[in-house]
Amino acid sequence: MKQPYLLLTPGPLSTTPTVKEAMQIDYCTWDSDYRHVTETIRQQILALAQANPDVYTTVLMQGSGSYGVEATIGTAIPREGAVLMVAINGAYGRRISEIADYYGIHHVDVVFNEDEAVDPVQVEAALAEHPEVTHFATIHSETTTGILNPIEQLMPMMHARGIVTIIDAMSSMGGVPINVDELDCDYIISSANKCVQGVPGFAYIIAKQTTLAQTADNARSLCLDLYAQWRAMTKQPGKWRFTSPTHVVHAFAQALVELQAEGGVLPRYRRYSANQELLSHGMQALGFDLVIDPAVQGPIITSFKYPTHHFDFADFYQFIKERGFVIYPGKVSTIPSFRIGTIGDVDTTDIKRLLAIVSDYQQLNQ
Ligand SMILES: *Cc1c(COP(=O)(O)O)cnc(C)c1O
Repeated sequence: MKQPYLLLTPGPLSTTPTVKEAMQIDYCTWDSDYRHVTETIRQQILALAQANPDVYTTVLMQGSGSYGVEATIGTAIPREGAVLMVAINGAYGRRISEIADYYGIHHVDVVFNEDEAVDPVQVEAALAEHPEVTHFATIHSETTTGILNPIEQLMPMMHARGIVTIIDAMSSMGGVPINVDELDCDYIISSANKCVQGVPGFAYIIAKQTTLAQTADNARSLCLDLYAQWRAMTKQPGKWRFTSPTHVVHAFAQALVELQAEGGVLPRYRRYSANQELLSHGMQALGFDLVIDPAVQGPIITSFKYPTHHFDFADFYQFIKERGFVIYPGKVSTIPSFRIGTIGDVDTTDIKRLLAIVSDYQQLNQ
């Protein structure tokens, strides 16, 4: 089947034909073949995140990435005596704060402008002001803008205070090198439809076993009980508690094989970075300014300002879509902008084609 367009969005993203093909079979959920696939995925995720399997475990959770974040927040943080600090510089940081509200978790939000990275100095000051903080959460690649937050600097500050750490690395895991052993974080979260290049349907959480082992009975949700899911997957290796997205799981297994074939996370990071650099320079040459400083820009997604006051994003979007690409509206509340993703089964040839289309649009609309 011919694809009408390539997705230049930050997940779901364009997958390879072979990943899509893996979904052509109706798989059984309970037999040993399937459990073996699940177990292999759990181990391969630890390897791609450079997490020691003696220290860390992978828990898979049905649903989109937010279900994984909610399962983690709602299981990691006990009902009594805990305070969560959230460092926020975009919509996904705000989502964690919103989850905490739903669960009645006491939280301290440290809020930054959306076009700035989380500043460790200000987080440190907030920690000094709030010695009651027991848990800390932030976003690695804040997909609102494409900023990469400095988790490497934030984690040691938390360890020094014995604070449990939760990282939403949804849009970076698999596409940006992450060394979990070095970070020594307690929880780090991603999902099937981001940089591993699978399709939507489940989230995965890498958790430190000793931390997770202390969370029995914390969960306020049956389905989103990360601890119970872990126990089930460990007791009977590879077993999910409830029906799992079998087609998605097989597509993901294939996507992991292809990530390996590409050479692993580093070559993929280089491919995404080459896409992003070409896009960023090409768009600037066509009159689109960047929203964020290239110094904190990640390779996942880039935000561009509307070039003029009368710029019509809907018209621009449609023009590009008809010619084979789907881009993304902006999410920065204060700056009229749009976003273009550079992840998925796309390379610089695709970005060049996109730039030619944008150039055509600019010429027609002068
Ligand atoms: C994609 C994403 C999520 C999850 O969003 P869903 O719509 O639930 O898939 C969470 N955090 C970040 C940073 C993301 O990019």
